Amino acid sequence: MVVTAPIARPGILDIAAYVPGESKAGGVLPPVKLSSNETPLGASPAAIAAFKMAAGELERYPDGQATLLRDAIARRYGLDARRIVCGSGSDELLGLLARGYLGPGDEAIYTAHGFLVYRIAILTNGATPVVAPERDLKTDVDAILAAVTPKTRVVFVANPNNPTGTYIPIEEVRRLRAGLRGDILLVLDAAYSEYVSKNDYEAGLELVATTANTVMTRTFSKIYGLAALRIGWAYCPPEVADVLNRIRGPFNLSSPAIAAGAAAIEDIEHTERARLHNDKWLSWVVGELEKLGLAVTPSVANFVLIHFDGIGGKTASEADEFLKANGIIVRKVGAYGFPNALRMTIGSENDNKRVIEALARYLKGAA
Ligand SMILES: *Cc1c(COP(=O)(O)O)cnc(C)c1O
Repeated sequence: MVVTAPIARPGILDIAAYVPGESKAGGVLPPVKLSSNETPLGASPAAIAAFKMAAGELERYPDGQATLLRDAIARRYGLDARRIVCGSGSDELLGLLARGYLGPGDEAIYTAHGFLVYRIAILTNGATPVVAPERDLKTDVDAILAAVTPKTRVVFVANPNNPTGTYIPIEEVRRLRAGLRGDILLVLDAAYSEYVSKNDYEAGLELVATTANTVMTRTFSKIYGLAALRIGWAYCPPEVADVLNRIRGPFNLSSPAIAAGAAAIEDIEHTERARLHNDKWLSWVVGELEKLGLAVTPSVANFVLIHFDGIGGKTASEADEFLKANGIIVRKVGAYGFPNALRMTIGSENDNKRVIEALARYLKGAA
């Protein structure tokens, strides 16, 4: 047989391409977009100013080490800048970690309702995804440990997880690390950690600092309001940072991203405002949803998973259609194993009120 077209590597065609949150809806009012966990407060004014300043030098290559940004992150959290690797969003870093440590014949574990980028990163590198069950929609350390085989090379855990919004205490993360073989890389995806205010939660910085096989990833896309610029960072053991630096693009962050990210992380007041806004409206939204008879998974992040089971034949799909017709975009989560739930980002006061009001109308409507 004559092959007339290129053939993708094994595993690539098993990937279901990531479907981003939608951004268009019908209706007369400006759409309410609560589908991608973006902050309603926008970026720090200092970050916007730094971005604009960078416009004057667009002909220049960026600093390939993103030194300004890595130093700003290191100062903010008291870290060793040499162990920080920045990426074009944390998605890029998750992909680079998979590329650095996974290949055909290897297995990588993520949890039943875990972030779908892990599966894509695993399959892209010809490795085998292994899905560990969750318990009460939470990461289950024992289930992950039970899923380990001699082929396991990487474990991905989002803490808090998206789309559930649940977290596990740092003690559980430590127990997971202690139960994994030393050659297994534990990747802690802490994209929402800045939103969490629980005494028993930590993003994992200390674990990274004290073990040779744990990496934490973070993002500027969520609380910092810089999703458009694509900025993520990983805190790594020196050997892992070395691997990532060898395989990343030499200029993987743009100069405007480096400048805006560094300014954003220094604007502690803006970040604190975003966190307080979320605390206030997360509990308001959950309270109102429960008054409507909807079950909500307890969330520590800036979104909620809303379940439509057992409420008079109403379904998440129908609710989604109704919301969209009313100019409100939330996230369908069927691909995450929740065919009858929707994920809603906590928005501005006005946006949150519009969602609750629309859902109330939907639930009162034709049974
Ligand atoms: C949003 C999100 C990210 C961040 O992705 P970026 O590429 O940094 O925008 C990472 N992990 C999880 C679980 C997320 O929800």
